[in-house]
Amino acid sequence: MKTILLALAALLSSSAFAAKIEEELFVMGSQPALLKELVGHADITVDHLDSHGFEVYGPAGLGEFLSQRGVAFYDLKDARKNVDWTNYPSYEQIKAKLEEFAAKYPQIVRLTSIGKSVKGRDLMVLKISDNVAVDEIEPEFKYISSMHGDEITGRELTIRLVDEMLQKYGSDAAITDLINNTEIFVMPSMNPDGSELRQRANAAGQDLNRNFPEAVRNDPNNAAGRQPETQAIMAFQASRNISLSANFHGGAVVANYPWDAKYDRHPFDALLQDFSLEYANLNPEMRSSSEFNRGITNGADWYVLLGGMQDWSYIWHNDLQITVELSDSKWPNYRDIPGFYTSNRDSMIRYMELVHQGAGIKLANRNATGKVEVLNAQGASLGTYGFQRGEFYKVLSPGAYTFKVEADGARLSINVTVDSEISPNGNFTSL
Ligand SMILES: [Zn+2]
Repeated sequence: MKTILLALAALLSSSAFAAKIEEELFVMGSQPALLKELVGHADITVDHLDSHGFEVYGPAGLGEFLSQRGVAFYDLKDARKNVDWTNYPSYEQIKAKLEEFAAKYPQIVRLTSIGKSVKGRDLMVLKISDNVAVDEIEPEFKYISSMHGDEITGRELTIRLVDEMLQKYGSDAAITDLINNTEIFVMPSMNPDGSELRQRANAAGQDLNRNFPEAVRNDPNNAAGRQPETQAIMAFQASRNISLSANFHGGAVVANYPWDAKYDRHPFDALLQDFSLEYANLNPEMRSSSEFNRGITNGADWYVLLGGMQDWSYIWHNDLQITVELSDSKWPNYRDIPGFYTSNRDSMIRYMELVHQGAGIKLANRNATGKVEVLNAQGASLGTYGFQRGEFYKVLSPGAYTFKVEADGARLSINVTVDSEISPNGNFTSL
């Protein structure tokens, strides 16, 4: 009989990057001490904590470690044997669908591949906007789905959303306004290999939502050594001025707002809660959640997560991002997808419109770089943000603000007003 307990430390790699996910388990019941021990380790992913327990992913030996602790758990790989995978489109079918959108609506859709997955699949992003071939000065928004390959609902919903928007462009006033005055980016499948393999991780066994530079660990914003899917997002985000986004997951029903990695409140906590509530309030299941008050949660209050995309996007790119968990079942029966679309459609449209609640500046010199300090009406600083390519835009709560701008060696202050309406010029002040 083994007398020495397997130490958690023995499982974990000493590399700066996570070990491969080899075991996928569900720990049953509330285990606060164990949870505390597991979270924060780069090699261990904890996910979807609820009243039944939580998922835990990690290297070989994880199950043995839990057994020796006397912890009750089951294997998620066994549970997956009961999942009905049928009728979902393949990667090739999805690619063909996105190509069809771009071919049918060339004035308002452009399809690009921002990189390749581990297995060489295209990482496809749709841009939807009027004058789509032109980089206009308009608020920029993005939706990304299914960075966890087995969390499939969002891939289907984002494609349905795009389909409906394209069909209704020119006839539905709200959708037409949104497309005419916003640069919208939609990536239905950030982890196509994982979805083809019906697994959470990418084809290299890595959890992409633990693979981003982490500020609390003092990681530099450096793509070297990261997964190709992560690198593609990092390069794409750096090429744009996206100021509001959401990433879609599955395994719960909730809108989750930053920070994920620390318990401190985000400087725009009230705004993030407002936006999360805007999403949840239009979704009957989310709004009436029995697990989450009002259908929303702060990320770290739910469980701490390091290396996630949500915190990274704001810290490095001034892009406020929430994580929307769309369905309790990660891979529901395909016939239930239309119902999930019905539940989320209004929320998805409304959340996109919120990018217009903000203010920006545009400079004649489209190569200008600089920084903007944002002050509220009482003169308190709300942070200083760098910008490039002659354009800065920030989503804010309604009210009056001062932007102290430093650009091309010149300094000036401007007063801006934020309301929540979509404005044809996107509320940019020309400097
Ligand atoms: Zn997920």
